[in-house]
Amino acid sequence: MPYPHMLAPLDLGHVTLPNRVLMGSMHTGLEERGDWGRVATYYAERAAGGAGLIVTGGMAPNPEGGVFPGAAGLYVDADIANHRQVTEAVHAAGGRIAMQILHAGRYAYGPDCVAPSALKSPIAPFTPRALDEEGIEKQIADMVTAAERARAAGYDGVEIMGSEGYFINQFLCAATNHRTDRWGGHYANRMRLPVEIMRRTRAALGRDFLIIYRISLIDLVPGGQSFDEVTRLAHAMEEAGASILNTGIGWHEARVPTIATSVPRAGWAWVTRKLMGKVGVPLITSNRINTPEVAEELLAGGAADMVSMARPFLADPEFVAKAASGRAAEIAPCIACNQACLDHTFQGKISSCLVNPRAGFETELNYLPTDAPRKIAVVGAGPAGLMAALVADRRGHDVTLFEADSRIGGQLNMARVIPGKEEFHGLVGWFEGEVARSNIAVQLDTRATPEALGRFDAVIIATGVAPRDPQIPGQDAPHVLRYTDVLRGGAPVGARVVVVGAGGIGFDVSEYLVHDGDSATEDLALWQREWGVADPDQAPGGLAEGGPRPAPPARAVTLVQRSRGKPGKKLGKTTGWIHRASLAARGVKMLGGMEYRRITPDGLVIFRDGQEETLPADTIVLCTGQEPERGLANALSQTGCEVHIIGGADVAAELDAKRAIDQGARLAAAL
Ligand code: NAP
Ligand code: SF4
Repeated sequence: MPYPHMLAPLDLGHVTLPNRVLMGSMHTGLEERGDWGRVATYYAERAAGGAGLIVTGGMAPNPEGGVFPGAAGLYVDADIANHRQVTEAVHAAGGRIAMQILHAGRYAYGPDCVAPSALKSPIAPFTPRALDEEGIEKQIADMVTAAERARAAGYDGVEIMGSEGYFINQFLCAATNHRTDRWGGHYANRMRLPVEIMRRTRAALGRDFLIIYRISLIDLVPGGQSFDEVTRLAHAMEEAGASILNTGIGWHEARVPTIATSVPRAGWAWVTRKLMGKVGVPLITSNRINTPEVAEELLAGGAADMVSMARPFLADPEFVAKAASGRAAEIAPCIACNQACLDHTFQGKISSCLVNPRAGFETELNYLPTDAPRKIAVVGAGPAGLMAALVADRRGHDVTLFEADSRIGGQLNMARVIPGKEEFHGLVGWFEGEVARSNIAVQLDTRATPEALGRFDAVIIATGVAPRDPQIPGQDAPHVLRYTDVLRGGAPVGARVVVVGAGGIGFDVSEYLVHDGDSATEDLALWQREWGVADPDQAPGGLAEGGPRPAPPARAVTLVQRSRGKPGKKLGKTTGWIHRASLAARGVKMLGGMEYRRITPDGLVIFRDGQEETLPADTIVLCTGQEPERGLANALSQTGCEVHIIGGADVAAELDAKRAIDQGARLAAAL
């Protein structure tokens, strides 16, 4: 059997899970829309795909505990029927599902938020109200009632969210709990809240119900728990009735990345391993686990009893089924970009997936067999063209894919060379595999001509983008490069560099240029030094004394933009701060409000605050955005053939792989 540890059953007494894979909690954004049928279909697909146990997105136990006003929850009996749709669909698909009870405490985006003490979080707008004794009792009672309602709704269990800096976590840390009563002060008092919640939930629900406790094993904030305290809590939760302990890593306000793509794979499993053998209940490890190989290695090596993956189940609902049937190479990889999942959540949108636009849209985006197969040409094998070709092929069309380059991938081939973006190798590899397994006729090194395209019923133009010409006087000098020369062509770059244009590509190019040698994403010890992570046995909360110690930069880089304000504001909500912090740590100067005057042999002459100034540079790299590559589309428009334009060739402004893949999939699903 492949992956024998990952696919081994887990006996939990009253229930046996079929394998060691937990689909971890992720907010979908569908519940708040009241679209419970769609929620049910979403989870049922993942159950059918083999997830051993599913945990839902966080459900508030009461209005004040909701992440935002109106956040999904289970705090009135009338909601039980909605949740029952979900549990029935999951059970019909052969799966098991637990509901996460999430009380946001001071992280709630609402004026009614409550917490142990009236201390505002740096990432939330409201100062919480400090609860009195009666208020704490109410919160506990509401959580127990939510668990009872969850059982009434047919859930197999609940997960009590005790990590990521939410309500319970806020009681555990002295920094956020300034109380002097029995709920604050020494650790026995601070941990009273989770213990009481667990004890009373277990008492209310009896033995035959799963109760997972998500424990914060490393807080990654100043004043975080020591590992002795965490271990004490783990024992207490086991004694109070927890069935399983799931790992939580870092508070949301932590300044250490915990799940971003630049975090090494399984980069936090060592923390779970520290607790292995110290408690009698199974332990689940989590964060940046995205392939069956990594999961198997962790379980075989004794890092945990089970692995949690959340985002990988968005990328591919059939993760487990494919692994179990010898089709692991077919698993669409989660590249940990957060672009379509968490970034969407923070924008109030439906959580989907960059590599799988069907995620969250299972009821409306389906790749059904066509009853009228056509000959379709796709021009351009970047993300938009690849996805369009694959979906059209899957539906039964006769697809030919033209690519001028000698390999597929388009702009993804530039992303994959950036330190911290190694996951893009896997994405390109997956596309290569999918194309090889399909019936698509691939013509590499081929520029499609209007004549050659004349024999097709429909043509999909996915010719991508060309770098925008910023028309800066002097830009034709030999020390001026375009980002494509650097990332694709490996052109030599001097010791002092000015990067012009601070969009995603300007940031990527800067990251590329300040690095030399090993990428920290592939070297956990190096990565931990760079971000100041320590063993929580030595440093409470896991923050190293002395803070981050980044490697010296390979080059002196200045990153500039014309707009006023700090560069990087438009980067992803959940990852922009990481890119900014990473460049700042390597001494990159990030400057806004520039007017570009000219380029000289000495550097870039800019105008700001009423005067000219030269930013000295041996090399200047232009990252000034993109223009659609439309030549072929324009030529075809004269021929009368059916033409569809997608990806960067359609709209270059702020194009990214997420939009490209989504557009390609949706077009091909409708052809
Ligand atoms: P972009 O995000 O549109 O940024 C272009 C940059 O060039 C901006 O700094 C813009 O700011 C400047 N610019 C625009 N027109 C100019 C002109 N005529 N002269 C001089 N400067 C000009 O484009 P991109 O960086 O090429 O990225 C393309 C897409 O890929 C974006 O959607 C991006 O989000 C995505 N991407 C994202 C990431 C990531 O999130 N890490 C990485 C790579 C790519 P000013 O006008 O203020 O100068
Ligand atoms: Fe993973 Fe990115 Fe998809 Fe989110 S959007 S599930 S991080 S690949």
